[in-house]
Amino acid sequence: MGLVKGAKFVLWDFDGPICRLFVGDSAKEVARRQEVWLESHGRGDVLTAEDRRAGDPHAALIRLASRQPGSDLVVELEKRLAREELAALPTALPTSWVDPLIQTWRAVGTRHAVTTNNSADPVRLYLEGRGLADCFERHIYGRTSDLGLLKPHPYCLNRALTAMGAAPEDALMIGDAVTDYEAAQAAGVAFLGFARNERKEALLREAGAVHVVHDLSLLLKILRGRS
Ligand SMILES: [Mg+2]
Repeated sequence: MGLVKGAKFVLWDFDGPICRLFVGDSAKEVARRQEVWLESHGRGDVLTAEDRRAGDPHAALIRLASRQPGSDLVVELEKRLAREELAALPTALPTSWVDPLIQTWRAVGTRHAVTTNNSADPVRLYLEGRGLADCFERHIYGRTSDLGLLKPHPYCLNRALTAMGAAPEDALMIGDAVTDYEAAQAAGVAFLGFARNERKEALLREAGAVHVVHDLSLLLKILRGRS
């Protein structure tokens, strides 16, 4: 796959391609705690029925931020999510093959950054814990106080490209969500979808993603010249 061998810079989404931060029902539990918190502050109305069903820990924050950007309530909800992300670290599940993939890719000279809607601190701690921090040279671009700049906005990708002196056409984004694909498109960066099941693959393909893999060992084989 030319995408893999041609990339000089790889921009990684964190939750999904690198690890599963919220394992099992914990994402839904976080979302449920946010729902209860919003209701206790009289803002349960920002969540749609679909948000309540989906149990995405970012949904409440994005909804509230779009209604009350910069408000104290948004600032507090963001801090609560950052604490939940830190608390989830001990049980985060590394994605199969990603550690040797990143190490191998770095060893052949490709540079790496994390471009994520998660808070940067938990990402940094996770990578340190896995012995991967050096592969990223501190290039971790996470959520900022301006929640309007979360992906699908290309802001974190553009920050990474600028900091690394990378041209968009030399970079590849690896992500598992439609918002990753949309952010890559907006930044002019090639996209490789990582989908851990058929449903996630279908969502990415429906959005327009052409290249989607289920197994990162495929990329490792390509780098090692065995595929
Ligand atoms: Mg993700």
